[in-house]
Amino acid sequence: MADVIIVGAGPAGSALALGLARTGCSVVLLDGARFPREKLCGDFLNPRAVALLEELSVAGAVRARARLVERMRVVCGSGVGFTAWYPKGAAGLAIPRSELDAVLVAQAAAARGVEFLEGVRAEDLLFEDGRVCGVYVRLRAGGRTALRAPITVGADGRHSVVAHRLGLIHKDRRHRKMALGARYELAPVEAGTAEVFLAPRAYAIVNYLADGTANLSLVADQQEIAVARGEWHGAWRRLLARFPDLDRRLDGALPAGPMRVLGPMAQRAARAHFPGGLLVGDAAGFYDPFTGEGVCAALECARMAAPVIVGALASGGLERLSEYERVRRRALAGRFRLQRALQAVIQSQRAARACVGALARMPAAAAGLLAWIGDARRAVRAPARESGCCGT
Ligand SMILES: Cc1cc2nc3c(=O)[nH]c(=O)nc-3n(C[C@H](O)[C@H](O)[C@H](O)COP(=O)(O)OP(=O)(O)OC[C@H]3O[C@@H](n4cnc5c(N)ncnc54)[C@H](O)[C@@H]3O)c2cc1C
Repeated sequence: MADVIIVGAGPAGSALALGLARTGCSVVLLDGARFPREKLCGDFLNPRAVALLEELSVAGAVRARARLVERMRVVCGSGVGFTAWYPKGAAGLAIPRSELDAVLVAQAAAARGVEFLEGVRAEDLLFEDGRVCGVYVRLRAGGRTALRAPITVGADGRHSVVAHRLGLIHKDRRHRKMALGARYELAPVEAGTAEVFLAPRAYAIVNYLADGTANLSLVADQQEIAVARGEWHGAWRRLLARFPDLDRRLDGALPAGPMRVLGPMAQRAARAHFPGGLLVGDAAGFYDPFTGEGVCAALECARMAAPVIVGALASGGLERLSEYERVRRRALAGRFRLQRALQAVIQSQRAARACVGALARMPAAAAGLLAWIGDARRAVRAPARESGCCGT
């Protein structure tokens, strides 16, 4: 029997498996998907996420497939905009999630003490004496079996079976946003730049990838996207018309893959710990992709969870798992407040225009805000141009 079962091998699950393996824990890491697998995402890693990948010894492999993001261009309506740079020595990366997650999961699967079960889906939780003691999984060959461990971790994303079975998930009734995503064959206007476009009750994020394509995500209120009832291309065209500069840029650009849709996105777990386990990454809650820090938060959660799990296993006192709740809240509360404040601003086009106009006049403030959002102060070792990125 392993010490820990981790359900979900996205960034949160793979990073936690790696962190635990380094301390000598035995881990079963399982995922319903087979890797590489696609995931609707902006494909952006902020500077802090890059630093966390460095700690996991995968940053080199990630950079080899990535494009450097040194600055962010924010445009509101037509003609109002600013470009902010990350602090000297810090930068983000643009890499398709299929590639990032495949690198992480390969590293985790190769780690001593980790057994990786691919294409194996958790269907339910196993309980004993009022606490979770494992999962029931659907076997690839059909049928299902029980896997047991002292600690079970839900790293299974926004639709977490672990969190749902425990009745921990609350949907956010006020922030009901959905996302549409697609790739285009499109080169960046300025090297090393990602772009954010703001429009009334919608925004668009463009991230340029190393293979010459651009990842475009459109985010809007649920009713505006859901009303399309599967006619996603119609919803896409209607939304895109709100971003005239971007719409013009895409004129004639070829789509480079299928369109994906997702949402409503915002939800949170009442608690990120439970008798016998923890929730990490999106399984513990997700608000909005605007700040592009979901992968960073997932890696950060894994980093906080590993020592708590090791401590609980060593002492045999599983109630110590509640310590994770405290450290997680302390580390992430400020970021959640910032996300909510930014959403309040961009909901109103007038407020967004005023803010973007003010930041255009104050480049130091714009750079400070970008550094804060990307947690660039804690980007311990920044990616350097010569370190093997595919391009800028
Ligand atoms: C439109 C959009 C754009 C975004 N853009 C960005 C961005 O640019 N940068 C950024 O940092 N973040 C972004 N995010 C957020 C980011 O995608 C998530 O925060 C991140 O993927 C969370 O990682 P995770 O490991 O918690 O979950 P996931 O990446 O969702 O991984 C969960 C894993 O669990 C597996 N799984 C699920 N259920 C089961 C089950 N029952 N049994 C076994 N396995 C299971 C899945 O197959 C999956 O591999 C974006 C999100 C959205 C919606």
